This record gives sequence, structure tokens and C-alpha cells, in this order.
Amino acid sequence: MPRSYNFSAGPAILPEEVLRIAQQELCDFQQTGSSVMEISHRGDVFGALFNETQNNLRVLMNIPNNYRILFLQGGARLQFAMVALNLAKLGDTVDYVNSGHWSQLAMETAKQHAVVNEVVSNCHEQYTAIPEEKKWLRSAKAAYLHFTTNETIHGVQFPVMPIIENNVPLVCDMSSDFMSRPIDVNQFGIIYAGAQKNVGIAGLTIAIVREDLLIPTKRSDIPKMLQYATYADTDSMYNTPPTFAIYMAGLVFDWIKKQGGIAAIAKRNEEKANWLYRVIDNSDGFYSAPVKAPFRSRMNVVFRLANEKLNELFLETAKAHHLMYLKGHPVLGGMRASIYNAMPMDGVKALGEFMQAFAKTHLPH
Ligand SMILES: *Cc1c(COP(=O)(O)O)cnc(C)c1O
Repeated sequence: MPRSYNFSAGPAILPEEVLRIAQQELCDFQQTGSSVMEISHRGDVFGALFNETQNNLRVLMNIPNNYRILFLQGGARLQFAMVALNLAKLGDTVDYVNSGHWSQLAMETAKQHAVVNEVVSNCHEQYTAIPEEKKWLRSAKAAYLHFTTNETIHGVQFPVMPIIENNVPLVCDMSSDFMSRPIDVNQFGIIYAGAQKNVGIAGLTIAIVREDLLIPTKRSDIPKMLQYATYADTDSMYNTPPTFAIYMAGLVFDWIKKQGGIAAIAKRNEEKANWLYRVIDNSDGFYSAPVKAPFRSRMNVVFRLANEKLNELFLETAKAHHLMYLKGHPVLGGMRASIYNAMPMDGVKALGEFMQAFAKTHLPH
């Protein structure tokens, strides 16, 4: 099969160059005669790879020295719990912005460990916008404010980050738009992201944690494996880290560098998203995008066909054109095209052109 254009929400498309390098190096990594999967995480060869990977991330994202980079496992969903366990003492209030499926789940998880204040919810508007910040009801003294920069399922993205109030740390699930646009890390207490959307493969979760939030860990009653400080103190080597996933992320960071860094990637992402939303908006109602324009995700383009009876045919025909995994998430239905960093403009154009042709063929006469 030729390589298809993969619009999956995650695990998601990787740059083809990255896959080729991994393939080339698979059986013999840097003349060790072993695969990178087969060597000790404590040896020199992996150590050098690890340090370079971490440094590249620090440089690419301009991460200040008072932030620690942690390579974790358990996915973003373990972070839903770790954030609450590490930052909230028993009885503390924590603030949650509910802007879609994932932030809602993060909030539900936190309820097991802290007193949760839902600052705002956009559920009644089917999560088609980020509610205005001046309508948020923040608590007077929260341990942190949690939000999700990009809602992968609803296709809603924060165009700008929330402001910091009363020094309450911003904690952010950035799983599906991590490294997709420049951000100012200084604005955050913690940023976390599963790697399998924008920077690699499943099994690695990256957390960027401001040092004052590590020391001291406020909840000594939680397992060592769930304390950020454990990973910070051991340079993410408390136990065996996900070595192959870290290697893959490293290749993706090299690739981002080659593309001109995050600013260059962001420009391309904007062009890609604009292109696709334009096809939808100019389809005479054949397709529609529910999310309000300023909040439309540049990563996950959610849309519907006016005639939902054509859904199956749309997906089948797309597949015949090597345009894969366009079906929307079951909670929402419809369609979703995930166009992460690794999706080339050619893939977006191929999809757009297919959509126009499909609409022309099936437009009601
Ligand atoms: C995919 C996703 C998650 C869940 O990630 P896991 O790694 O499966 O735990 C959480 N939040 C967001 C925003 C996501 O896109």
C-alpha cells in the first residue's frame, strides 16, 4: 500500500522521515549492534540520547531553567489524577474550566481527590466556544486552575491562554496541541501532554513542572510513583522510562527543528486549518463546522454532513482515496479530521479536494 493520509485523532500520524529514520536504525542503533529498544536506560548510549532529547525540547519550547521536564507514563489520564494529588492538600479547592469532553473528565477525576469548583462550563452550548473569561467564577483561593488548550473531540481550542489571577498556578492539558504553536511557558505551573498526538507514540507523557510546585510534595500520603518529585529527583529514571517512546519523541523534535521550529510549524498549522475550514464554509451547507470561528481548533477539524445518511458513503469513498480515519468521536458523531504537526499541506489539500468533489456529486438537485 502507498502511505495513506492518516487523520486519526491519536495515536496519530508521524512524519514519514521520522519513521524512515527509526526503520533504518531499528536493528543497529549508533553502531551498538543492538536496537535502541534493547539497551539499558542507565547506559551511556541511552543517556546521551536522553539528554539530547530533553535539551532539544527545552530549546524548542524555550523552557526556562526553573521548570523541570519529566518523562512519565500512564497517559494524560494519569495526569488528571497526579495533578490533583500533587498540588492539592486534602480539603483544598481546585478550579476547573469545562470546555469539552477531556476537561470534563479531568474535572471528574479531580473530584476524587479535592474540592472541585467548576469555573465555567460550556456544555449547554454543546462546547462550540470557549466561554468569555470575565464570566468565569474562579474561587478565591484555588490550589490551581486547570484547563485544556485544545479539546480533541469537540475541536475547540483556546486562541489565547487564560490570565493568571492571585498567583494561582495554571495547569494545562496540552495533549493535542503540544508544540503546535509558540507558548510562553512562564505562564504555566504545569503543562502535560500525552506524546501520541503531536510528538510521538503512545507510552510517553511529558510534564513540564515549575520547580516551586515540586518541593515539597504536599501530599506525602500518595504513592512515590505518583509524586512529581520522585521523577524530578531521579531525572525521570526512578524506574525504567519508556525508552523507545522517548527515542521517537527525540526524532520528532529533530524534525521540528528542521522545519524551522515551533513558530514555522504554527504558521503551517494555521494555513492547513484555514484551508480546510474554508472548504467547509464554502460548501453551500453540504458540510458544516459547529465550532464558532475564533475557537476552531487548528488540530482537530470537526464537521458534519447536512445529509447524515451519506456518512458511511463519505467515509468509504474517502478511504478509497487513501484518506483515513475521518469518523468523528462516538460522543459527537459526524466527522473529524485531525491535522497535527505531521500532516502535510498536501494531505489537507487532498482531503479538501475530495470533499469538494464528493459534495458536487451528492449535492441535492
Ligand atoms: C487524548 C487525550 C487525552 C487522553 O490521553 P491518554 O494518553 O489516552 O490518557 C487527554 N486529554 C486530551 C486533550 C487528549 O487529546
